[in-house]
Amino acid sequence: MRHCVRDVGSFERLLGIKLDQAERDAFHQTVSRFPMSITPYYLSLIDKDNLVNDPIFMQSFPNHQELIIHQSDMADPLHEDKDSPAPCVTHRYPDRVLLLVSNTCAMYCRHCTRKRRVGDLDSIPDKETISQGIDYIRRTPQIRDVLLSGGDPFLLSDDYLDWILTELRAIKHVEVIRIGTRTPVVLPQRITDDLVTMLKKHHPLWINTHFNHPKELTKSSCRALAKLADGGIPLGNQSVLLAGVNDCPRIMRVLVQKLVANRVRPYYLYQCDLSEGLGHFRTPVGKGIEILESLIGHTSGFCVPTYVIDAPGGGGKIPVMPNYLISWSTNKVVLRNYEGVITTYREPDSYEQAFCDRNCASCDLQLNLDSANEQELLGVEMLLSDSDETISLIPKGNERYERRN
Ligand SMILES: *Cc1c(COP(=O)(O)O)cnc(C)c1O
Repeated sequence: MRHCVRDVGSFERLLGIKLDQAERDAFHQTVSRFPMSITPYYLSLIDKDNLVNDPIFMQSFPNHQELIIHQSDMADPLHEDKDSPAPCVTHRYPDRVLLLVSNTCAMYCRHCTRKRRVGDLDSIPDKETISQGIDYIRRTPQIRDVLLSGGDPFLLSDDYLDWILTELRAIKHVEVIRIGTRTPVVLPQRITDDLVTMLKKHHPLWINTHFNHPKELTKSSCRALAKLADGGIPLGNQSVLLAGVNDCPRIMRVLVQKLVANRVRPYYLYQCDLSEGLGHFRTPVGKGIEILESLIGHTSGFCVPTYVIDAPGGGGKIPVMPNYLISWSTNKVVLRNYEGVITTYREPDSYEQAFCDRNCASCDLQLNLDSANEQELLGVEMLLSDSDETISLIPKGNERYERRN
């Protein structure tokens, strides 16, 4: 970490290249807004003979286009700051929260969605601040899944992380803990035996990492993944769809297959967010759908990530896929498969629809009520239910409805 490359001189020296004056000027302008930090390991993967097209270079080295603010750009498109009921906490979904335990990363990814904060205060929140976040989780019993994020939680010392995990584990309603980290990609040396030994004490623990290109799956990072997997930690991967880096069905197919070969399950493929400074990385949504089209059916089901758009304004992740349902009648569904074969599924002639008033005690289906948490009906789920009279969801401020009142 001490040897992270943060200035253009060191960058040139280590790669043995020379940027021209215009490139240096552009660099200085860009880093005055969005700083640079590259681990020596990640820098060593850069192909200096083809800088402009190199996926490692593009993800790590400042691009002058980051300074172009597009009309759709927002500082905090996901409203993470607004959905924060306590320090370090983003609570968006009913049963899970983000706990931001570190304000720093091994490398500053150029496509960071929290770009507004990068380099602001490269720090680890103190115990007092994190305790306030943990207190919120303690007094909010519907939270059963806590996602440690940041920054990168693996930039904390083993002892400090051990303390956080121990505190969370002591909370009865917290069933699973997840950690999001890019260290297996940019600082695989961080995955030490000591770290894994500590993590193993806190099962069930899941880890999501962030590979975007097959070039990142080096011997070192594969070794790091193997250590984590051998520690019994289920591994997932979240990629971001990035123009010029991985917006190609063939690259994506190689990436997901290599991940699975290393016991990592592709989890999400993100449409690039509307954060400021990411304009040059964005692709149309159609590119993501095209990639999924080339994965679904063509390769193992568990190679296929869910393609999501994180809704601006804090709406959360919305899955998007190609359409497979072509038509529907009262007893037949018409579908198409990945090869283009159009087929039908005949639905049952009779199906006894059990009326559900959400009174599980009087239902014939077997459910152990002690272990089943009742959740409030929400959104479209509510429209589908028998037990709720709501027939439509009406946007706030709808004029037609306001006239009625
Ligand atoms: C992504 C995210 C989660 C976790 O979502 P999953 O779909 O369960 O992986 C939780 N909270 C916030 C704010 C998120 O952005």
